[in-house]
Amino acid sequence: APAGRSAALRARMEERLLSARFRYINQQLYTSSSQEAVKLFQNDPEAFQIYHRGFAQQVGRWPENPVDRIIRYLRRRPASLVVADFGCGDCKIANSVRNKVHSFDLVPLSPLVTVCDMAKVPLAAESVDVAVFCLALMGTNLQEILEEANRVLKQGGTLLVAEVASRFEDTRAFMTAMAQLGFKSVSKDFSSPFFFLLEFSKAAPPRPRPCAGLRLRPCRYKRR
Ligand code: SAH
Repeated sequence: APAGRSAALRARMEERLLSARFRYINQQLYTSSSQEAVKLFQNDPEAFQIYHRGFAQQVGRWPENPVDRIIRYLRRRPASLVVADFGCGDCKIANSVRNKVHSFDLVPLSPLVTVCDMAKVPLAAESVDVAVFCLALMGTNLQEILEEANRVLKQGGTLLVAEVASRFEDTRAFMTAMAQLGFKSVSKDFSSPFFFLLEFSKAAPPRPRPCAGLRLRPCRYKRR
């Protein structure tokens, strides 16, 4: 029936528009500072909904979601460890483990979220055992963000980073920069073609100087 056909066409056009908006917002998040990201979502709350829907669709196509790997990792370790989830999204980690989890994001997708810029989280220095960035190393001020993770981590605490594989231009330079920021490499898993999973331990406070090798490419999701 023509009515059914035009409804289907309309739905397809709407889907295309949402997908285009997702890719646009995604690009903005990767090319602006975290302070600018705060303003982006404050000025356009709908943008956040569109972004998250698009993000979940993209990762849903991967054979494995890195957040599940992080949950498995935490379940193997004592539940007494305090966790900070930077850029927590829908708080899957907090909802899946028994640990105390501080969940930080720009907009509350869940009542468990503490709304803040992850470059400045409301936690005391050396108060956290595990800091997590799961697909959340966004923003042009990565160094500031990782320095904040270093500040809240206890000496010897764990930093877990899951990030889109294609974002790494120079993995060696990235690891060197992480060492300069006080993070010692514990394990690296490059086995997934979709994401890298890196574990570090906090060895020292960051050295106060720019780390050039920290640069990651913006993640460009495919047009569907
Ligand atoms: N970790 C979640 C969500 C990843 S999407 C998961 O793996 O499912 C990246 C998240 O980082 C988004 O929710 C986005 O809002 C958040 N984010 C980006 N920049 C941020 C910032 N400056 N401060 C806090 N959260 C930020």
